[in-house]
Amino acid sequence: MSDRLLNFSPGPAALPEPVLEKARADIWNLAGSGIGILEHSHRGAPFTKVIEEAEANCRDLANIGDDHEVLFLQGGASTQFFMAPMNWLSPGKSADYINTGTWSKKAIKEAKLFGEVNVAASSEDEGFSYIPKPENLKFSDAPTYVHYTSNNTIAGTQFAGTPDVPAGSPLLCDGSSDIFSRPVNIKKFGMLYAGAQKNLGPSGLALVIIRRDMVEAGNDKLASMLQYRTHAKAKSCFNTPPAFGIYIMGEVFKWIKDQGGLSAMAEINTAKAKLLYDYIDESKMFRGTARPDSRSQMNVTFRASKEELEAQFISEAAAKGLPGLKGHRSVGGMRASIYNAFPAAGVQTLVEFMKEFERKNA
Ligand SMILES: *Cc1c(COP(=O)(O)O)cnc(C)c1O
Repeated sequence: MSDRLLNFSPGPAALPEPVLEKARADIWNLAGSGIGILEHSHRGAPFTKVIEEAEANCRDLANIGDDHEVLFLQGGASTQFFMAPMNWLSPGKSADYINTGTWSKKAIKEAKLFGEVNVAASSEDEGFSYIPKPENLKFSDAPTYVHYTSNNTIAGTQFAGTPDVPAGSPLLCDGSSDIFSRPVNIKKFGMLYAGAQKNLGPSGLALVIIRRDMVEAGNDKLASMLQYRTHAKAKSCFNTPPAFGIYIMGEVFKWIKDQGGLSAMAEINTAKAKLLYDYIDESKMFRGTARPDSRSQMNVTFRASKEELEAQFISEAAAKGLPGLKGHRSVGGMRASIYNAFPAAGVQTLVEFMKEFERKNA
């Protein structure tokens, strides 16, 4: 669509255009019901079909079995930062956290309100520019759970695989910025959660995939809305759910299936990221900020040789229809967020723009 820009925003981020076009029609009239998706009762048959299909497609995509619940919760990823420790920690109990950036730190801060936190490893010593090696993870004996951030949206780093944790300790993952960008073995997770606005849909909604025994083990003295069991029992419809977000997420799941599923998505994402990193590596003006073995396929962070050039780069790019390239204020420089829905051709356009910029300003 010619009136749309190549949006490199880190989140809310670009969504698949076929999903947006379908949503435009379904806002007016959902599936011939004469009522739009925003206006349907969450207890009626049309919305029940929407949420059931969303869950079924999610299970299908990630091969999620009966051991796990699939929940659609409000409050974004940040609510999970406190809801998880609130359910499983208490004074005297401790959890292990791997600290790989701003979002990990926020999760740690919330967990400390409810119990002890052991930081099993941190890459803060080098500005979060790397993912700690498996041999450097210092877990405690039997942590109540282990928490990590699979992709660090701000630092531009990503775990290549799932960390191995002490036997019997559930693994919790904040996968907000790389969920369903590659195949995932759900069996490894006590809980995998993600705010929707990077890879899955609109902000405010979180996808929470959680093991049934974890749901049962949660504190039952909390307010109903803060217990996972409430939402598991009510199939995410305890109160009025964020219906439109669930609808969009369901359409995004269908779109990922149309692309060929998670392995196809991974191939596309690997190729997209390679295009950009290859150019950054050969460039004399630009350099990547993440250690090469820790680079993210979702958020490509880079700097220019001089700070003035960075401001010029960001504003010239935006003027050319490439907005959203400014790095997070805590790190500076540039960041190209190229989540699932960001087209490969758009990455090519960015590389061409970078080459031209380098030629003109060398
Ligand atoms: C964006 C982001 C969050 C915050 O999500 P909210 O939905 O705004 O709470 C948390 N973790 C990671 C890794 C993120 O990228």
